[in-house]
Amino acid sequence: MENYQELLNKQRTFFRSGRTKDVQFRMKSLQMLKELIQANEQAILDAVKADLNKSEMEAKRAEVGLVVSEINFTLDNLESWAETKEVPTAESHAGAKSFIQPEAYGSALVIAPWNYPFQLAVSPLVGAIAGGNTAVLKPSELTPKTSAVLSGLINDHFPEEYLHVVEGEVETSTALLKEDFDYIFFTGSTGVGKIVAEAAAKHLTPVTLELGGKSPTIVHEDANLDEAALRIARGKFANAGQTCVAPDYLLVHSNVKDTLLAKLKAAITSMYGDNIVENPNFGHIVSARHFNRLAGFLDNGTLVTGGQSNRDQLIIEPTILDAISWDDPIMQDEIFGPILPVIEYSDTSDIINRIAERPKPLALYLFTENEALQDEILANISFGGGAINDTLSHMTSHYLPFGGVGASGMGAYHGKASFDTFSHYKSILKRSNK
Ligand code: NAD
Repeated sequence: MENYQELLNKQRTFFRSGRTKDVQFRMKSLQMLKELIQANEQAILDAVKADLNKSEMEAKRAEVGLVVSEINFTLDNLESWAETKEVPTAESHAGAKSFIQPEAYGSALVIAPWNYPFQLAVSPLVGAIAGGNTAVLKPSELTPKTSAVLSGLINDHFPEEYLHVVEGEVETSTALLKEDFDYIFFTGSTGVGKIVAEAAAKHLTPVTLELGGKSPTIVHEDANLDEAALRIARGKFANAGQTCVAPDYLLVHSNVKDTLLAKLKAAITSMYGDNIVENPNFGHIVSARHFNRLAGFLDNGTLVTGGQSNRDQLIIEPTILDAISWDDPIMQDEIFGPILPVIEYSDTSDIINRIAERPKPLALYLFTENEALQDEILANISFGGGAINDTLSHMTSHYLPFGGVGASGMGAYHGKASFDTFSHYKSILKRSNK
C-alpha cells in the first residue's frame, strides 16, 4: 500500500504559499481546466464509450457538457462568492463591525464513482478549485480508460502540489483515507460512504457524502401519462439505469397502471428500437458482478417488457416488472440498472408511510397536477431532492444544491453550493478601540 503523506505534504506547502487563495489564480485554473476539457473532448467521449458503451450524444451532454457549464457558471460568479460580506452587528456590540470571510479548507480529497466517471470526478474538483483548495482526485478503478484520460488531463498540466490524480483500486482509496486531508468529498455507495465517514472521523475531517438509495417515482391517477411515460423512461434507462438519481421503482395508481405501462413500453421502443440487446448505443452494465446481481432480479414479479440480456456484452434490456411487492428482493437495495419494478396503489397515505419508513432516498419524482398531493408528499417524506412532473432535471440546475439526506448522503454541491462546500465561513467581529 502506497504512502501518500509526501503528496499531501507537498500540497500543504503549496497551499500555505497562498497562491490558491488568490481569486485570479483560481479563475485562471478553471479557465485552463475548461480549455483542456474542450481540447480533449473526443478522448473523453472515446474513453467513456470504451468503459461503459455510453453513447457519444449522452456523454457529450452528461459528462462533458454539464462540467463545462458548471465551470462557466463558476467563472461568472466566483469573484462575488469569494468576497468578504459585512453583516449586521448585534446591539450588544454597538460600534463594532461584523463580517463573514470565506476561506479554503486546505487540501481536499475527492473520491469518485464509475457511473458518470468524468462528470462526477471533475464537478467536485471545480468546487475545490473555486474554494481555493489544492486537491487529490481518486477516480474509479472500474472505468480505467476514463481514469487514464483524467490523469493525463490533470497530471500533465497542473503541478502535483496543486492538483493531482491518483489512480488505483480500493487499497489506494484506503491509503489516501489514512491521511489527514482538510476536506473529503466522496461520491459512491452508502456502504462505502460509512467507511469514508469513519476514516474522516479519525482526523475530524469534514466530509460531503454523495450516496445512493432507492428513489421512488409516483404516478398519480390525474397525471399526464404521455409525458410521465417519456420522462420516466428517459430518467430510468439513460446510462442503462446506472444513474444515482434514476427512478428506482414505480408506484402507480391502480386506475392508470395498465395505460401507463403500455405507454412506457412504447416510449422504450421509440427511444431504443426493438432489438435493444443489439443496439450499439445502449449502455453496458459496468462489470460481471453487477450484471449477475441485476440478472438475479429478472424473475421477480411478472414481466411486462424486456427481460433479455447478453452476459458476454454485459447488456440487460430495459425491463419492466409488474406485480412487485415491497418484500421482493428487487425492493431491498438500490437497483442501479435498467430494471423498473412496479407497485400499484390506491391509497396515497399508504405509499407515504411505506416510503417514509424506509431509508431516506436521494431523489423522489411525483407525477400529478394535484397541488394538495404535491404538498402532502413534500411535507411528509424526507429525500435529497427531486422533481414534480419530471425526472433527473433538478440535478442539472446551478441554482439547486444537489445532495442526499440520511442514508443517501450529507452535504450538497453544484453552483454556489459547490463553493460553499469547499469553503469554511469564518465569522469575525471587529471592535475598534479608537
Ligand atoms: P463505490 O462506493 O463502490 O465506489 C466509489 C469509490 O470508492 C471508488 O473510487 C472506489 O474505488 C472507492 N471505494 C470502493 N470501496 C472502497 C472501500 N472499501 N474503501 C475506500 N474506498 C472504496 O460506488 P460505485 O459502485 O463506484 O458507484 C455506485 C454508487 O454510487 C451507487 O450507490 C450510486 O447511487 C452512488 N452514486 C451517488 C451519486 C450522487 O451524486 N449522490 C452519484 C453517482 C453514484
